[in-house]
Amino acid sequence: MTAASWACTALLCWHLNFTGALPREVHIDQVRAHAAGQRPVRVLIFNNVSRITLRPQVAVAIEDARAREHLATALAGAQITLSQATAGIAVQGPGMRLTASEIRILPLTDDGGIVISSHGGWGRRGLYQGALHVASTAGGLRVVEHLNLEAYIAGVLAAEMPSYFPLEAMKAQAIAARTYTLQHLGDHADDGADLCARVHCQAYAGMPPPDSRAVQAARQTAGKVLSYHGLLIDALYHSACGGATAPAWEVRQGKLLPYLCGVEDTPLSSELDQPYCARDHDVAWTTRLSWQQAERLISSNLGVVLGRPELSPGTLESLRTVNARNTERVAWLHISTNKGAYRVRGDAVRWLFGAGHPGPKGLRSTAFALELEENTRHMPRALVFQGAGHGHGIGLCQWGARGRALAGQTAREILAAYYPGATVTDLRR
Ligand SMILES: [Zn+2]
Ligand SMILES: [Zn+2]
Repeated sequence: MTAASWACTALLCWHLNFTGALPREVHIDQVRAHAAGQRPVRVLIFNNVSRITLRPQVAVAIEDARAREHLATALAGAQITLSQATAGIAVQGPGMRLTASEIRILPLTDDGGIVISSHGGWGRRGLYQGALHVASTAGGLRVVEHLNLEAYIAGVLAAEMPSYFPLEAMKAQAIAARTYTLQHLGDHADDGADLCARVHCQAYAGMPPPDSRAVQAARQTAGKVLSYHGLLIDALYHSACGGATAPAWEVRQGKLLPYLCGVEDTPLSSELDQPYCARDHDVAWTTRLSWQQAERLISSNLGVVLGRPELSPGTLESLRTVNARNTERVAWLHISTNKGAYRVRGDAVRWLFGAGHPGPKGLRSTAFALELEENTRHMPRALVFQGAGHGHGIGLCQWGARGRALAGQTAREILAAYYPGATVTDLRR
């Protein structure tokens, strides 16, 4: 995974985990079978695609997933295409032409995977090593990969962090990602999966090279998770906090989670006064919207973020932010229009200014100060957001983990800084 392609998944995109719901309680004993490799993780890797091309590196068996019947075997190097047919899925390959309502494709040896590419829908071309469950849905074909937890974690690391990040940062990320995975099993139950391969859950793009730091970090931390009083913690993480992480209650409106209380991300030593995530990395950002652009975005997004899609907010009159106590983050945005007054909470402020302009998904973070620019007649002309950091700001700061590792901290020290009070537990003991 190159730094450039990584930037697309973790830096430029957004973590969308906020549903406002409290995390469910998962006891560490409930997930030991996954850590022991006895139960796979099911990852939605392609969805709503019209056609899939498979190039297995090893021989694969194709089965009817419902009848559990062997249908065919394809040799390494064969090209197999899957497309939607009235009876389900049409499978075509060398000397092979069959249909089934649902299929399973199993690599027959573990020394290689299947290169998968697709047309339409979403999914990332890559090398996948697990068993593939392919179903035909109203939107198109859907592929769910069933694979070992540790293989999945190596793939997440390769997609979530650039390969040049220091090993201790990657190990901290591995433990956080493993915890996050086990805490969120079944989040995509409606898709027959546990998690999806997008930033919505965790970025994942298949198998990284066997000699990569991602594989090394997953292996060196195998089975390790973060727990608090015997329960898995909700190990949220984000790209860069910009100076201090966000207390989870600020966004979740739920009970105060001690390990997600929000911490300063700055070194104690006076020699370095910049945050760990700002070490040779620019965390500051400015977004300027003309008054008309802001009005247009509010008009199209306010109803959606407030859960009242029919809302038509009217002409914008004024905007005001209220910060969370003792933090640089905006807790509320107060909006007045000629039709009424509205309040938008926490992370939803980012989505309010999203879609189209300034970027596909809105403001980079809620750690911003808002200034109003006026024209010569003292009429509002533009909104200027001056902010820091990228992402929701909760839990582990990925660029901060890098800065801390470069300053000599170990993975355990990095985790203790971002999830204070949580314990590193080995599920295989
Ligand atoms: Zn997801
Ligand atoms: Zn940070």
